[in-house]
Amino acid sequence: MFIRYEGTIYRPPSEFDSLIIQATIGCPHNKCKFCNMYKDKRFRIRPLKDIMEDLETGKTQYGKGVENIFFGDGNTILMKTEDLLKLLRYCNELFPKLKKITMYGSAQYINLKNLDELIRLKKAGLSRIHCGMESGDDDVLKFVSKGYTREEMLKAGRLIKRADIELSLYYIVGLGGAGLSENHAINSGTLINKINPDFIRLRTLLLFKDAPLYELYKENKFQLLNAHEALEETKLLVKTLDNINSLFLSDHISNYYKVNGKFPEDKERILEELDYALSLDKSNFRSPTSGTL
Ligand code: SF4
Repeated sequence: MFIRYEGTIYRPPSEFDSLIIQATIGCPHNKCKFCNMYKDKRFRIRPLKDIMEDLETGKTQYGKGVENIFFGDGNTILMKTEDLLKLLRYCNELFPKLKKITMYGSAQYINLKNLDELIRLKKAGLSRIHCGMESGDDDVLKFVSKGYTREEMLKAGRLIKRADIELSLYYIVGLGGAGLSENHAINSGTLINKINPDFIRLRTLLLFKDAPLYELYKENKFQLLNAHEALEETKLLVKTLDNINSLFLSDHISNYYKVNGKFPEDKERILEELDYALSLDKSNFRSPTSGTL
């Protein structure tokens, strides 16, 4: 007996040692122009019984010492609260050494829950939400069809923080292209300041041939940033960040240069490192389309 997986499985790099169980298949939104992750899947929530069986199989395969569980695919947070509570409790029953249970959650699905529900989920073991904020700028969010506004992202971020669930926010460098780069950085920075997430994780935009943004790029309606422009945008984001206690991580291969640190204490060092990266010749970096698949 093996854990049943359907299609390509995605997980954040920080979940490298987690037991991965698909609670949902695909993404209920599936409209973001830059994303190709679940284009081949029709969204559905798996029956609780099947998810629980896979957890049991996980115990048989990896033993009861599993410490971390990540529920994929997209937006597991949208499951009914009562079902999520059953799942979280079952995880703790099967794996007594469990330290962390995490899942993906976008703002529009987090906002379907009230604070009381989120507090109950936290008490039952939900440790962290991986949330693709991507941008705090309404024009960028609209352009990529993210499905929520800056205000809705603010509401979702604050709800998660008030429930004392760890919030891992993702920012995509270059998502506004050349035209919206400055607003993308500044408005994302000011939104992050209001939310004060536990983690700010950088990804740099990669184009995928099966994602709608690629067509816009080919038609010259979207300009990818080059390495130096992407680093300038990152610098503007970092300069804008203020009054937060967050880990800032470029924990992804898409990024042109790694800058990691803790806010507020490492802000100046991160800016110095970005200045150093900006002093390097373009031959030191991948081409903007080198990751295009
Ligand atoms: S980025 Fe996230 S919310 Fe958007 S389509 Fe992809 S999986 Fe769904």
